[in-house]
Amino acid sequence: MRLNVLYRGPLSSCNYACGYCPFAKRKETTAELRADRAGLARFLEFLRRETDREWGVLFTPWGEALVRGWYRRAMRDLSQLDHLKKVAIQTNLSAPLDWVADCRHDRLGFWATYHPTEVARDVFVSRVERLWERGISLSVGAVGVPSRLAEIAALRSALPAEIYLWVNAERGRRRRYTEEELRLLKSIDPLFEINLHPHHTRGAHCLTGETSFTVDGDGNMRRCHFVDEVIGNIHDQNWSHALRQRLCPNTRCDCHIGYSHLPALGLAERFGEGLLERNPLAKSRGR
Ligand code: SF4
Ligand code: SF4
Repeated sequence: MRLNVLYRGPLSSCNYACGYCPFAKRKETTAELRADRAGLARFLEFLRRETDREWGVLFTPWGEALVRGWYRRAMRDLSQLDHLKKVAIQTNLSAPLDWVADCRHDRLGFWATYHPTEVARDVFVSRVERLWERGISLSVGAVGVPSRLAEIAALRSALPAEIYLWVNAERGRRRRYTEEELRLLKSIDPLFEINLHPHHTRGAHCLTGETSFTVDGDGNMRRCHFVDEVIGNIHDQNWSHALRQRLCPNTRCDCHIGYSHLPALGLAERFGEGLLERNPLAKSRGR
């Protein structure tokens, strides 16, 4: 059976300075970085010895991880393990990309977020194209801040049509989207409707904690990033006993990394091999 695991270690810093973000330009101490590196190394050891099943991995750091060499090397090394079918990451795509040449391209996935206040559009697009030209599965997207919709539309025009561009509805915005804005958003992201409103999930069957779980730097397992209960630890011999069928205890779920595990939404079928990096085209392109 294939398991998907989301890894989020203690790293919580970023080289970008998005105004709304607590990790913007935050810097860690040497000791904090060492702890992050050690946690990641233990996670990799775990995956290396768990050869009895297939795995998909998505790195979902607080902040930006690919500016750290140990995450780049982790992706390279994991991509070369036969039982690792996908190793993907959420990233702002600002870090060097040369390391990608040493990876198995058919195993990589990138969930690349565009931050128009931090990077020029053409620079971002050229970095996306470098990955795309290698045949790497990726998605590109941005938060649908009403004042930035023209920029997101311009990004859509600048990208190859085959690349999926997602838009996340801005949460907590002061007003509803207008009809015209909704038309534009849906023309940019044909799946925007799935993200527009939170899903009411209390009591719903969700595959997190069963075929997908999250891990922190200490190896603690949680079913997802949105339910805080620790259900086990990957460094315990019996870690897999924690996995079983579960219902969602939360009232709502509004992020792809969560609701994509709701069987009722059918997103596993829709996204196929691109589920972790949010690329619905991965299946049809055979990636
Ligand atoms: S790129 Fe992401 S993590 Fe970095 S400052 Fe912007 S929102 Fe925060
Ligand atoms: S529906 Fe969302 S919040 Fe609920 S368990 Fe699943 S991923 Fe977590």
